[in-house]
Amino acid sequence: MPRRYLIRTFGCQMNEHDSGRAAGLLETLGYRRASSEDEADLVLLNTCAVRENADNRLYGTLGHLKSLKDRRQADGRELTIVVGGCLAQKDGDVVADRAPWVDVVYGTHNLVDLPALLARADSAAVPVVELVEALETFPSALPAKREIRHHAWVSISVGCDNSCTFCIVPSLRGPERSRPIGEVVAEVQGLVADDVIEVTLLGQNVNSYGRDLAGASRFAELLREVGRIEGLERVRFTSPHPRDFTEEVLQAMADTPVVCPHLHLPLQSGSDRVLRRMRRSYRVRRYLALVERTRALLPDAALTTDLIVGFPGETEQDFAATLDIVAQIGFDQAFTFKYSPRPGTPAAELVDEFVPAEVVAERYHRLEALVREQSRQAHQRLVGTAQQLLVESPSKTDASRWSGRTPGNHLVHLPAPAPDPAPAPGSGSGTTGAFASGDLVTATIIEAATNYALAGPAESVRRTRAGLAAGRAPAPRPTLPVLAAG
Ligand code: SF4
Repeated sequence: MPRRYLIRTFGCQMNEHDSGRAAGLLETLGYRRASSEDEADLVLLNTCAVRENADNRLYGTLGHLKSLKDRRQADGRELTIVVGGCLAQKDGDVVADRAPWVDVVYGTHNLVDLPALLARADSAAVPVVELVEALETFPSALPAKREIRHHAWVSISVGCDNSCTFCIVPSLRGPERSRPIGEVVAEVQGLVADDVIEVTLLGQNVNSYGRDLAGASRFAELLREVGRIEGLERVRFTSPHPRDFTEEVLQAMADTPVVCPHLHLPLQSGSDRVLRRMRRSYRVRRYLALVERTRALLPDAALTTDLIVGFPGETEQDFAATLDIVAQIGFDQAFTFKYSPRPGTPAAELVDEFVPAEVVAERYHRLEALVREQSRQAHQRLVGTAQQLLVESPSKTDASRWSGRTPGNHLVHLPAPAPDPAPAPGSGSGTTGAFASGDLVTATIIEAATNYALAGPAESVRRTRAGLAAGRAPAPRPTLPVLAAG
């Protein structure tokens, strides 16, 4: 029987990406994915140091795993516990001291060492802790195991050269290092050959991509190169930084049909005073000019953002400026966060200026009400339009619905596909109303809600290699036009 692994991922897409690599490494060692904790012989926690109470949550989870490990040992069965990622990088030895039942601790720079660390842990009486200061192997170069067949995260750079005062990332992920364009393109080509039709290019600051290699950003060039790969249907990227966003990137987005018309542009605050204190190196005027250019060049682009409420020293006037800018721009979606101090960051030292929790909560409530209404309006604007949806999966709560994403990344629910009738003899790929995860479906939006839109039944289904590979037998169904596999 192969040993089974379970990975729990906390935090951002970079961690999702690294978890795919950790899974790939474990599979090369002969492990197979477990469907539950009970089935798992190894549990890996890929930790995040950015989210609030990250360490409390980690030790809570480790306490639970200790009970499981004790029960297993009583039954003569092993449980290997691995802690990796940002919090491990930050706290390394502390994790081993506080939770000596952990087997392996590794950091953000040495995922590549996981197999060797597991081998060492086999004969070690204490946790094997190994953290290194600098990245030697890009996680992207490691074997990967994807959760979703049609989509892949592709890391184009790691680390960050900025020093936003609220952020712990630069000290945990190090300075920015870009991968050569050829390497990124080769990875995407390989993914497309493996039925991926959508990639998300990942970096802490994608707009400065290539600066460490070429002295100037090459992100626009990268978008164009990736956009030329045959068989790729959608390209997304995250996250750009408003300071480094250039006209060339907007132009590359406008010229490259597979690059999705969606820009996630973290604003953080609408007050220049707060932006200065956050050490965000753009000002509101620059941000607004960027939004204006985006809307001129990409009129249908969805615009989303991140906002922090209650940064130390934020006054009512600062907050009102944020409300004003948000109202003026009208985001499709905004991720709002209450400021919470991250130990080790400059902002965490500003204890005397912390905004009282009840004030933060009240401001947060006002901002949330505004961005929720904007989100509903964004979905309302889609009503009556035909949208191409990359369908993902059946709804977890309602089997009669499936979910998909528009090019602008709006979540849309639509009626479940018609069951596949038996294929007529010699019908080849025929026409069908059935679709599978990874297909491109056109449907008209009929209703708007805050967090999603509803569409009518599929009007056309474009089979993709990902959809066909998801296990649907092609079958005839004369009512809907179906296009060739993408
Ligand atoms: S740009 Fe700022 S917020 Fe983003 S990762 Fe770098 S330091 Fe953190």
